[in-house]
Amino acid sequence: MTPEEILAADRAHVWHPYAALPPASPPYVVESAAGVRLRLADGRELVDGMSSWWAAIHGYRHPVLDAAVTDQLGRMSHVMFGGLTHEPAVRLATTLVELAPDGLEHVFLADSGSVSVEVAVKMCLQYQRATGRPERRRLGTWRGGYHGDTFHPMSVCDPDGGMHHLWGDVLPRQVFAPVPPGGFDGLPDPAYERALVDAVERHADELAAVIVEPVVQGAGGMRFHHPHYLRVLREVTRAHGILLIFDEIATGFGRTGTMFAAEHAGVTPDVLCVGKALTGGYLTLAAALCTPEIARGISAGGVLAHGPTFMGNPLACAVANASLGLLRSGDWAGRVAAIEEGLRVGLEPLRGAPGVADVRVLGAIGVVQLDHEVDLARATAAAVAQGVWLRPFRDLIYTMPPYVTDDADVARIVGGVEAAVKAG
Ligand code: PLP
Repeated sequence: MTPEEILAADRAHVWHPYAALPPASPPYVVESAAGVRLRLADGRELVDGMSSWWAAIHGYRHPVLDAAVTDQLGRMSHVMFGGLTHEPAVRLATTLVELAPDGLEHVFLADSGSVSVEVAVKMCLQYQRATGRPERRRLGTWRGGYHGDTFHPMSVCDPDGGMHHLWGDVLPRQVFAPVPPGGFDGLPDPAYERALVDAVERHADELAAVIVEPVVQGAGGMRFHHPHYLRVLREVTRAHGILLIFDEIATGFGRTGTMFAAEHAGVTPDVLCVGKALTGGYLTLAAALCTPEIARGISAGGVLAHGPTFMGNPLACAVANASLGLLRSGDWAGRVAAIEEGLRVGLEPLRGAPGVADVRVLGAIGVVQLDHEVDLARATAAAVAQGVWLRPFRDLIYTMPPYVTDDADVARIVGGVEAAVKAG
């Protein structure tokens, strides 16, 4: 198909994420991708400042990841997981348990981040039921979060102005604490700590679990908070028999400078959700990890009632094993630190520029918050003109590049962000 034919058929038939039909502005046609570059159908090459929604941490067409998929394809692409098991899934579960914070020992493989959150919630509801507290059905969280697009995840996104606020009348009514104050460093705010504890304690008898994104709230607003609040949540939930879920779908596998963001706080949740970078962005796979206590509680009362058709897909598990192998054998922490430095040096000067409300950088995440809603089409086109792929949203122009992005390409991404800020 020619690029024009692709765009015409796309406009006629294809629904894009968070878009009307047809979308407000046409998508760019991408032909191929290699390293950190996307190649558009018109021949332009863009450094990918988004890692394909934060997943492609090793870049595209990585020889080790390509080989993992093709080798596995030679054995089997998929088999059902009910009554069957296979080495790729078992190796993956073992590695995840080794990498995750201590105490998480059981792994449920899911197809997407949203579904892993559904599974995590189901684990907690089922555990509370199985251990004699069926009245504990609600979830607690803080405002400003994002946990996915299916119904339980939507119910713990921000109900006021968050992506799913339209669904307020349909979603289960959850318990919300205020948005954590901004700032990863410095001193935590004792007033916020009290508000957090109060919100949980006031509803303790109804809460099955509290779910939060540790350290970075991603699609809900790209905000960073102090790790201390995670310790506070760990204590108050434990004291009241409430389970704690950390959603590390965005932060897991090194994005914030530690393998998991939970490590900044030194706490282990009862359930951990991972996805996105799990397969290096190659295939759709996520997981919910839980403690032996949860597994025992649920299993004493019956089975964990979940089992998607493509559970444990061998191709996805094989490439996840290869991706985690690359992380374990390479210097991802050094690269993330270098990217952090490059983003800090490059983006900090934008603080105080016209239209800029805030600049923040943590690990391989750089965010410029504007004092107005971004003009998406204009900002994107301005970055593309600089040879950079960005996908701003709301008042945010941000980058989460692949860890293999070198210093020169980090500088190019900074140039793209600057251009988008000026245009947006
Ligand atoms: N949780 C977090 C923190 C996320 O950032 C996302 C996606 O952006 C999700 C859950 C949903 O994951 P998925 O898009 O794979 O369903």
